[in-house]
Amino acid sequence: MPLAFQSVKGSAWILSVGNELLIGRVVNTNAAWLAQRLTLLGYAVRRIVVVPDVEEEIAGAFRDALGSADVVVSTGGLGPTPDDVTNFALAKALGRPAEVNAEALRMVEEKYARRGYPMTPEREKMAVMPRGARPLPNPVGTAPGILVEEGSKIVVCLPGVPSEMEAIFLEHVEPLLRSRGPPHFYAERVVRVKGVPESDVAPVVKKALKLSELVYVKSHPRGFEVDAPVLEIHVYGGSEKPGEAESEVERVAAFVAEEIRRSFPEKAQVELR
Ligand code: ATP
Ligand code: MG
Repeated sequence: MPLAFQSVKGSAWILSVGNELLIGRVVNTNAAWLAQRLTLLGYAVRRIVVVPDVEEEIAGAFRDALGSADVVVSTGGLGPTPDDVTNFALAKALGRPAEVNAEALRMVEEKYARRGYPMTPEREKMAVMPRGARPLPNPVGTAPGILVEEGSKIVVCLPGVPSEMEAIFLEHVEPLLRSRGPPHFYAERVVRVKGVPESDVAPVVKKALKLSELVYVKSHPRGFEVDAPVLEIHVYGGSEKPGEAESEVERVAAFVAEEIRRSFPEKAQVELR
């Protein structure tokens, strides 16, 4: 029985950097967005870690992530202000010097020169990266992303601003992650159930989890357990073989729908989406 979503391409950690996340001022939408993209690409996201803007803590989180995941993606802390220290923290975690990356410097200079702004130490700081890093062009903002390969592992640092983070990921990171490892085919179905409490559906989910090594099943309550139960049962999985994830997910979803109809013939309204 799968204990969690099984990956085809390897495991991933997401690191979210920023005090604003830890005081609840900013909702961590970046992590949710990345988790979804990485899952669709075939990576099993094993941790989402939120750390403050403290170099030692960020470095510690990168070390932990590199000790366990194949791919590490961070967001936040790449800007020009003194509290943006993700680049230095990553260098520390990797044991590499942090230095001005010539290509990144050209990218930053060009952004500012276009509007007649001179270079300053704050702007130059956005071009500082661990030695051997590859800068990722930022089509929306000024700070380039950072890509580092460490053995077979990949670390990517993206800005905190969602539009910048998404643009760099889609243009430069996703193609690279897609090309690594075996191909990946993802499939999902949702079984929507009205009229049966989640606690009564739990045994069906338990049985369904035993049906396929590839498929994970998770119920999400959407209504009120006792008074007006509504559930969405998410059935999803990935495979290296075209068609396999689809047929396995289909088989498990059909089982879930049928088993609930059979077990609660009077009460359940079941819809397979
Ligand atoms: P900048 O160059 O703009 O300073 P940065 O890489 O330094 O970018 P941060 O300073 O960490 O990024 O964040 C900039 C803004 O992006 C935050 O004020 C917040 O509005 C948004 N942001 C940061 N992290 C997240 C997150 N995890 N989810 C959603 N929004 C975020
Ligand atoms: Mg910033």
